[in-house]
Amino acid sequence: MSGRRPLVAGNWKMHGNRASSSALLSTLRSGVGAKAQAEIAVCPPYLYIPLAAETLKGSAIVWGGQNLDVHSSGAYTGEIAGAMLRDHGCTYVIVGHSERRALYGENDVLVAEKYAAAQAAGLIPILCVGETLTERESSQTENVVARQLDTVIEKNGIASFTKAVVAYEPVWAIGTGKTATPEQAQAVHAFIRAKLGKLDRNISGGVRILYGGSVKGSNAKELFSQPDIDGGLIGGASLQAEEFLTIIRAAD
Ligand code: PEP
Repeated sequence: MSGRRPLVAGNWKMHGNRASSSALLSTLRSGVGAKAQAEIAVCPPYLYIPLAAETLKGSAIVWGGQNLDVHSSGAYTGEIAGAMLRDHGCTYVIVGHSERRALYGENDVLVAEKYAAAQAAGLIPILCVGETLTERESSQTENVVARQLDTVIEKNGIASFTKAVVAYEPVWAIGTGKTATPEQAQAVHAFIRAKLGKLDRNISGGVRILYGGSVKGSNAKELFSQPDIDGGLIGGASLQAEEFLTIIRAAD
């Protein structure tokens, strides 16, 4: 046993409305009960974070944001600061999700800055890394993941990983129904841990590395049983209460 507490985090993306979010949160709250072996988090759209705080307070489920701005406050129309997320009780915030990298032009440097801003606000960043299909097919997976990690390490130092979570999310597996095989995922997770381990063995042994990419109730157990997979970052399946609860049980 690694001693690392598994984490299952749901990324709701830009889905739902007030009624569906409220129903999902209530069902999760009662489905999980007061205690869970794995840590459980949900990351709703910003506007439904207060609803999550209200519904989940005192439960075994914590909540987080899907993004934040690099600045702590100021004239940045339309942005949300880490301190605002903390103010609403967020524990986590996702940074560097591949949708933000691909659709909103977030590069490695900006991701490293957002990671820093998250920690400065007292949030735990869930740092997403992962390769595209073209990169995998040209044997660039390790180079890409190493580059994405290096930019964060250069700016924030290896010690920052005591208060961070890494999520390996192969871009070709996100929302596509194509899951990395447990062996493919484990190989990259082991690479990430070994890479961090070259800088600090204790820190790399303690950092949780989640897998994300079309995780479902039916494949979660096999993925989570790999030695370097410490849970999952779940997109589509986190919007279906029963499916998400099955994934949570697989991590327990
Ligand atoms: C995600 O968006 O982080 C994700 C893993 O999505 P999905 O589970 O839908 O592939």
